Amino acid sequence: MCVRYRERMPVINQRNCLPCTACCEGWLSIEAPIAKAQLGQACTHCTQQGCGVYDARPQDPCQSFHCAWRQDGTLLPHDMRPDLSGVIVMLDQLEWQGEDVIVAVATGARIPARTFHWLCSLAKITSRQLVAVAYEQDEQGFNGEFNLRTTGSEEFRQLMVTYFAQKGFTSTHVSRERRILEMVSI
Ligand code: SF4
Ligand code: SF4
Repeated sequence: MCVRYRERMPVINQRNCLPCTACCEGWLSIEAPIAKAQLGQACTHCTQQGCGVYDARPQDPCQSFHCAWRQDGTLLPHDMRPDLSGVIVMLDQLEWQGEDVIVAVATGARIPARTFHWLCSLAKITSRQLVAVAYEQDEQGFNGEFNLRTTGSEEFRQLMVTYFAQKGFTSTHVSRERRILEMVSI
């Protein structure tokens, strides 16, 4: 998934990203002057201490992008920070029937089960669609395939398959989550 930001800029909270650097590590695609990340390839400026060119980082998307964990009024608890939960959650990338879609991108081979079930519950209590993506890797790295899981309608699932196909990804396993658990703290 390529990071973009919409005209409606998120208001960010007082949380500190560090030690998380997930959005710069190559789980999302970033294309900007001096900043470039693609699947499996972190931005060359990404360090364990954060952005190595922090003061000179581009406005879009480096200064503008914040995952849902950093957005004001977020429902995501501390443990849903991407480096802890195994998933980058975004609420400002896709819309479905006028509502923000919960987009969850794995920061590894798969989204941990506990995290995924928590996201399903979030989708239920906020009446939003969830699309969860885990990109597949082999010995050569990411191979253009991905696993996709959604909640909600079949129509939404089909739309997400089409959306990611347009981005050049082939789905190897697509499923619609029917089991919704109660919201539990993570
Ligand atoms: S993924 Fe979210 S919490 Fe992690 S560095 Fe990016 S904006 Fe901060
Ligand atoms: S320039 Fe800095 S903020 Fe932008 S992608 Fe690279 S490490 Fe991340």
